[in-house]
Amino acid sequence: MSKVNILGIEFDNYSLEEFKDRLISRLNNMLSTMVVTANPEIVMAANKDPKFMNLITKNADLITPDGIGIVLGGKILKKPLKERVTGYDLFTWLLQVGNLRKLRVYLIGAKPEVMRITKEKIAREYPGIELVGAEDGYFKDDLKTVAKRIEESSPDMVFAAIGFPRQEELISILRQAKVPAIMMGVGGSFDVFSG
Ligand code: UDP
Repeated sequence: MSKVNILGIEFDNYSLEEFKDRLISRLNNMLSTMVVTANPEIVMAANKDPKFMNLITKNADLITPDGIGIVLGGKILKKPLKERVTGYDLFTWLLQVGNLRKLRVYLIGAKPEVMRITKEKIAREYPGIELVGAEDGYFKDDLKTVAKRIEESSPDMVFAAIGFPRQEELISILRQAKVPAIMMGVGGSFDVFSG
């Protein structure tokens, strides 16, 4: 397996199809999996904040280059990455997988109205999915309490759209608890999905 280090982040150098294979294999083996789709903003933020960098490097199982800026950076550094693999692409593909396999999915994040539309769209377009959680991202509970709630719902997949670094913090708590799910921070994906 090859990794490409760009500004301290170890990207997995897979194509989109190869990332999908990795995810299916981890899903089949019920492995706790934290996916970070790292865009330039995340790479820069990690370089400014050692705690955030540590959170990612210590907990992430798969790191994808989310954005052409990262792929270009790789070229310039003579460390070519296969292709851009965005959070949104993986999110919508994982929903298809969840639909076909009748998986348990937990969604957290975005404004209440966005979450309402997201929930409706999933029920309509991915009826095989069992939504075991669908809460907006403006909760008062601390992340540990939220993580407990998510864990207790026994999800197969968790998508958190509460902005970084909080979504990565939340997923790290779940990853450290070895929750056997595919877990990914998806930034503004619910806004796009519901749009
Ligand atoms: N968000 C949220 N709770 C918050 C802050 C943000 O649910 O306390 C949501 C926001 O509604 C949006 C997503 O997180 O759907 C990404 O927000 P933003 O674009 O600000 O995050 P970034 O691009 O910094 O990850």
